[in-house]
Amino acid sequence: MKLDVNALRYLSDDDFRVLTAVELGMRNHEIVPADLINPIAGLKHGGTYKVLRNLLKHKLVHHDSSKYDGFRLTYLGYDFLAIKALLNRGVFVAVGRQLGVGKESDIFEVAAEDGTIMAMKLHRLGRISFRAVKSKRDYLLHRSSYNWLYLSRLAAKKEFAFMKALEEHGFPVPKAVDCNRHCVVMSLVPGYPLVQVKQLQNPETIFETIVGIVVRLAEHGLIHCDFNEFNIMIDDDEKVTMIDFPQMVSVSHRNAQMYFDRDVECIFKFFRKRFNISYECEGSDSDSEESVRPCFSSIVKSTSSLDKELAASGFTRTDQDEMEKFVINPSEPVDCGSSEEEETSDVRCLSLGNVDAAASSLDSMHIGSEFSGDFIKREVSICGSGED
Ligand code: ADP
Ligand code: MG
Repeated sequence: MKLDVNALRYLSDDDFRVLTAVELGMRNHEIVPADLINPIAGLKHGGTYKVLRNLLKHKLVHHDSSKYDGFRLTYLGYDFLAIKALLNRGVFVAVGRQLGVGKESDIFEVAAEDGTIMAMKLHRLGRISFRAVKSKRDYLLHRSSYNWLYLSRLAAKKEFAFMKALEEHGFPVPKAVDCNRHCVVMSLVPGYPLVQVKQLQNPETIFETIVGIVVRLAEHGLIHCDFNEFNIMIDDDEKVTMIDFPQMVSVSHRNAQMYFDRDVECIFKFFRKRFNISYECEGSDSDSEESVRPCFSSIVKSTSSLDKELAASGFTRTDQDEMEKFVINPSEPVDCGSSEEEETSDVRCLSLGNVDAAASSLDSMHIGSEFSGDFIKREVSICGSGED
């Protein structure tokens, strides 16, 4: 999705006030009536409608007059609110080129005042998880609406909490810098995703390091759930960094064993195909791949701690339950596929053209109202102070 932040320079405080009013109104309106935006924004000299026209021109809001005259935020509008809040906090001073396009995110370079380059991940739930949401149609029938912006914000909150906790426990992950709405700022990881790496000096060592990470995660009570060559970065010194945490679950999850085995299988399969690393020895069972594969039940200890620590972090059990209803569909295991398919899907992931299409379909998606009480309070304070 294109992110032209130049428009940020031309947006006034009133523009942001009205944009924030639309965000607030979406707490209980799928489409916020224009008549409601005006009193929420409370512009001293009026002119809400003129401002709305300007926001519409920049594609920050979407106009809908099918039932009544109303507006809702677009992903771009939500991006601008998050970026503005992070600029106000001094987290970064500039947004640069796009670093990557994930399954459900866009990643950009950002620069701090001292010139440090970091990575900003904008979560865009809906690209893939729409399938899972559709399979939960019954659930949705009993709710008035659902909200991709809200789910993206939950994903960011989770990713930030997990990244911080993992770093504190010595896992090789990016440094979590800050988080606002659906946006996470983290340190820039040098190197490339493993899927793009065709040659390694020490493939066996890397393989063991990576399997070691899955095992150590489980010892700490966690499973990555998307642990594969797309979410492992390797730099020129063959240092490994794990990324992408919104789908992680506790080892106490009802499908924990299946998720763990799937993560392990993805790694074994990739290294077998790409680097010809196999543990199958002729005539000997003791060295077979099965016998060297980490075994979930012997790793997981009843005293595992990180998942409990995380439950006490910003990301609550209720947040997790809410996300799972939409995003993770445990009855539908995702096949990690063959390497060839994965390479194709990587190309698809990196193709900006398709992402534009995905983003515009996102924009036209139904979004509704499920903001939590805590969120509303924070947003009100933004409205008042112009910062978060
Ligand atoms: P998704 O959840 O959408 O899969 P990821 O977190 O996996 O998103 O990121 C997608 C891509 O963006 C990665 O494959 C990688 O190329 C790039 N990327 C993500 N985080 C960073 C980072 N901290 N530093 C450098 N590149 C990153
Ligand atoms: Mg990823």
